[in-house]
Amino acid sequence: MLNKTLYISISLILVLACSKSNELDSDDVIIEEEFEQLYSCVSYSDVLDPKTTNQDDLMQYWVKFVADVKCTRGQDFDEQHSQLNIFFEYRTAAQISQGVTPDHIAYSTFSGYCNDAIVNVGVLYNEWTEKNLLQRLWIMYHEFGHDVYKYEHSSSPADIMYPSSTRSDIDINGFIEAKDRMFKRSFTGIKYISCPTDT
Ligand SMILES: [Zn+2]
Repeated sequence: MLNKTLYISISLILVLACSKSNELDSDDVIIEEEFEQLYSCVSYSDVLDPKTTNQDDLMQYWVKFVADVKCTRGQDFDEQHSQLNIFFEYRTAAQISQGVTPDHIAYSTFSGYCNDAIVNVGVLYNEWTEKNLLQRLWIMYHEFGHDVYKYEHSSSPADIMYPSSTRSDIDINGFIEAKDRMFKRSFTGIKYISCPTDT
């Protein structure tokens, strides 16, 4: 009886040891497959890492966006936009009147996209905290797309200017491809916001 128990114990240890090492092997393979990240001239790891990002710091997204555009296209948006109003909103979507392009999580207004010197983007705090870090990056690029590029919404869910910025299936490579199209002004069905001429 003692021998049998001992035998079972040893078998169990061996099985555990095997499954442990199999687990590690398969993890290694998955990591290699998942992290073939597309090239981008800026790194997003700081804003996508919960340890280094400060979720209450919206300016980090402007800084990232400006650096991204600059090294991708050579354009300096920071120089052009001297007045930055990028802020949290504590009202609900329903309480915010006449956000011209409300996305139910963030909005931009005529005062921003019809004035090259101004960036005006409000972010609904409660909804914001429910998004993952990649969604937040996507949402902010979307709003800067309205404000800085004057883009209207796209009808393709793969584009940053698609109105639903709450998609949960986006990955970093999808983001990099989408922002490259956005910077090159080369996504399908591109449209621009028309501003009142009398301002
Ligand atoms: Zn929008």
